[in-house]
Amino acid sequence: MSNLDHNPTETTCAATPSTTPTTELIPGHEVALGGIRDTTTVHRTLPSRTRRMIGAFCFIDHYGPHPAHTHPMNVPPHPHTGLQTVSWLISGHVQHRDSTGRHQTFTNGELGLMTAGHGITHSENTTPDTPPTLHGFQLWIALPDHARNTTPHFEHHPHLPTDGTTTVILGTHNGTTSPATTHTPLLFLQIQLPPNTTHTIPLNPHHEHGALTATGNPTIDNTPLPPGPLLYLGTNRTTLTITTHDQPTTLLILGGEPFQEEIVMWWNLIARDHDEIVTARQAWENHDPRFGTVTGYTGKGTRLDAPPMPTTRLKPRGRTR
Ligand code: MN
Repeated sequence: MSNLDHNPTETTCAATPSTTPTTELIPGHEVALGGIRDTTTVHRTLPSRTRRMIGAFCFIDHYGPHPAHTHPMNVPPHPHTGLQTVSWLISGHVQHRDSTGRHQTFTNGELGLMTAGHGITHSENTTPDTPPTLHGFQLWIALPDHARNTTPHFEHHPHLPTDGTTTVILGTHNGTTSPATTHTPLLFLQIQLPPNTTHTIPLNPHHEHGALTATGNPTIDNTPLPPGPLLYLGTNRTTLTITTHDQPTTLLILGGEPFQEEIVMWWNLIARDHDEIVTARQAWENHDPRFGTVTGYTGKGTRLDAPPMPTTRLKPRGRTR
């Protein structure tokens, strides 16, 4: 996934964690994935005007469900730094290629986790043989200072721990730990429930959490949560109760330790200050080996150009806007 706003504004990706349990509905907005015709749109709930991060999660896109043949994914080669991308499908499949030479197609129930570290290039697209419905999520995780310049790599986890209800995609939940590599204490769960059920899960009270509905119409802590908005849940919760109604429900829970570092997110790059962003942007525009090359991209469009830098210097800011 790529942030393809024509004039991306500086995003100081510092959280303002709530110190108490809360239920704050973040509506999100629709974003076209670039100017490419016949491609998909996404519903983006992070970053938002009111909240920048949940734990180290700093970007959430939800796409579909829609027919893959009319809303295919075509994201040409583009760079990332200082973050991990988390690809999680509800249905359909996505073909990933990156500058480490990795070529991997993944489908629902399989985690695609890309660690950009110091710099990587990747592309993402559906192919003509894709299943008929495309529905999924992409989240970005800010890497902490000690890991943000790590060697780029891609992990595919087709078999994640599950008890049939809860799948541990990232982190540790109720004594079960995902095999995926993370660099700050965080959590990403998928919970699948039948209709007319009440289900309570334990949560780490020192973490902040959020919830996203993929399918169904559940009530989370007395708040109805249809697909679309992000529900911010704050910290200091030891449990969370989920109630389903007339539909089977697939719910995602994300969270983590409130992120303490100030970071600047601009376009597809995360850094700590203006000069680091300028350096990374210039390296991309100069085809510098820092980002490598993707070969074999079969989707529409070609290597994305970086947008121009804003006319003012990007400044790391405090935790509040
Ligand atoms: Mn991307």
